[in-house]
Amino acid sequence: MDPTLRAAAEAARGFMPADEGLALHEAAVAAATIDGPFLEVGSYCGKSSVYLGAAAREVGRVLFAVDHHRGSEENQPGWEWHEPDLVDPAVGRMDTLPHFRRTVHDAGLEDVVIAVVGPSPTVAAHWTTPLAFLFIDGGHGIEPARADFEGWTPQIAPGGTLAIHDVFRDPADGGQAPYEQIYLPALAAGFEEVSATGSLRVLRRTNGVGGSSRAGGPR
Ligand code: SAH
Ligand code: MG
Repeated sequence: MDPTLRAAAEAARGFMPADEGLALHEAAVAAATIDGPFLEVGSYCGKSSVYLGAAAREVGRVLFAVDHHRGSEENQPGWEWHEPDLVDPAVGRMDTLPHFRRTVHDAGLEDVVIAVVGPSPTVAAHWTTPLAFLFIDGGHGIEPARADFEGWTPQIAPGGTLAIHDVFRDPADGGQAPYEQIYLPALAAGFEEVSATGSLRVLRRTNGVGGSSRAGGPR
């Protein structure tokens, strides 16, 4: 990874350890054998966006970064992952969009990292371009995780890559929704595991048939 962008990613605020970020970057570069853009669900302040945006720049793609920027349930006041200074006092709700924009600007990635601001299921319902690479790191409740699996995994092109963050087999290590609602269903749908780094899992959509009806062809 480009050393300047790596430093920018490591300095950015967010929830992505450096080894997982580098693995994410590497997986996205490798996905460029397949046509199509990259897309992430859950950008927060743009940390993973820089790892993936750097990959997009290297291989001549773009990254669509989908987030409503109001925080997940687990980011709200009183929850474990809340950061109080991310609340917009004028609105009384979280707003990570200014931080995201600043991160992407400072990394010099505004031409390859394209923010899509809104609810993930709504964007997914209107999305039509097959993806070379999909990274899911959105809401980690059962329903948001299930909706991201249902809405986004069918959009991956045959041979394309699915990366999932915060996958914990053991409940003692973390919440179970990404594991139970995304990782296991993807395997059941015919995705094959390529690598594991920390809580990051990288899977590939096998060419041709996509497995069960839960992950049909790209729409
Ligand atoms: N990938 C980030 C961390 C993402 S945190 C990093 O590297 O630091 C999860 C993000 O998912 C939050 O910013 C939250 O706003 C977003 N999110 C959660 N549920 C969402 C939904 N239904 N639609 C859009 N974004 C959502
Ligand atoms: Mg995460």
